[in-house]
Amino acid sequence: MATILLENATLIDGTGADPKRGVSVLVEDGRIQSIFTDKSKRPKADKVIDLSGMTLMPGLTDAHVHLGALGVNSPRTQSPEDNLTSYVLDVVENIETALQEGFTTVRDAGGLDPAFAFAVESGHIKGPRILPSGSFISQTGGHADFRDRFDDRPPRVVPGILAGPVLCDGPDAVRAAAREQLRKGASQVKLMGSGGVVSPNDPLEGTQFTVDEMLAAVHEARAVGTYVMAHCHTSPAVNNALDAGIRSIEHGSILDEATAKRIVKEKAFMVPTIHIIEMLGANSTAHGLSHYSLHKLDKVRSQLPLSVALAAKTGVSLGSGSDFLGKKQSKRGLELVSKATVLGEMAAIVSATGTNAHLFNMEDRIGVVKEGRDADLIAVAGDPLSNIGVLVDAANVKLVVKSGTIVKNTL
Ligand SMILES: [Zn+2]
Repeated sequence: MATILLENATLIDGTGADPKRGVSVLVEDGRIQSIFTDKSKRPKADKVIDLSGMTLMPGLTDAHVHLGALGVNSPRTQSPEDNLTSYVLDVVENIETALQEGFTTVRDAGGLDPAFAFAVESGHIKGPRILPSGSFISQTGGHADFRDRFDDRPPRVVPGILAGPVLCDGPDAVRAAAREQLRKGASQVKLMGSGGVVSPNDPLEGTQFTVDEMLAAVHEARAVGTYVMAHCHTSPAVNNALDAGIRSIEHGSILDEATAKRIVKEKAFMVPTIHIIEMLGANSTAHGLSHYSLHKLDKVRSQLPLSVALAAKTGVSLGSGSDFLGKKQSKRGLELVSKATVLGEMAAIVSATGTNAHLFNMEDRIGVVKEGRDADLIAVAGDPLSNIGVLVDAANVKLVVKSGTIVKNTL
């Protein structure tokens, strides 16, 4: 592999440390070989890139993507009008856009067949490293049961292409569903633990799956060295998930203090998804939300920033997730902008780099710019600490290096 020397950058390293000016980074064999400011130590390299005026950062990560969930309501509803070839091309476009925007690792929170992650790994798709969950696992009538009341056909699944939801009830069925997703290549298992905004028939406050059902999935995930992530908007749902040993709490939108403390005690993570809620609120008609969904959205929208602030104050490890759905997913960095309005720019950046890396169990490889780590690096025009909005537009992300290979360079 060619060695790359990135010179004269301002470094934000993903740990929360103050930025450093005049930093150079040598990339060798896919890793960060050395980081230095002393020019007299300047090593030889095959390629030298001057990053004067640019900010060098770890590749961004997104812990809650739905690259394959193209309909707001369901991966199933897209099938009658849209053929599977178009579906695949739309998914590939979502994947490619994420990398162009500087995201080098993403965790899919359901709806993407792991085959797409394999296609990235093998070089067929130019995208971020994807940690897929495969299908959503939901109880009947739960958040991933998007059928209307008069439809009892099972959701559509096309192995290798379309990972529609799996609806199951009882610990053994949940166990089998978790095993099935892991067999198909899921990095972790995704469960629906509470009602949700866009689902047609479930109250937001409803808890979904019993602790025993979730425990079965947690057992299976742990048996192969991984974990479960659960969609939970409210405190009772979060507590059920924690009772079952679930490690990654998605949303946590309506959180009380005792529950926040418990997340810390159990060493779990929370991934609030702030921007999507604002966006759905601002464009509810465009997204075709029903009155019922709008009512649920209002509850989440009023509480979510308060819950994020409470979680941060309590010491909860907060990951960063966009929860973007649909076709033409772009401007993923908007989640960092929303997070920054609650917690500040640096906290938003750390959540989307260092903290997410811990959440993914990849802290030894990615998330911070440190000698020996994978060379996942981006260079951005401007200073995200004075204007975090620079991370929103792909045009500002001038350089993307993934595992030591330059995958974008518009310098
Ligand atoms: Zn989601």
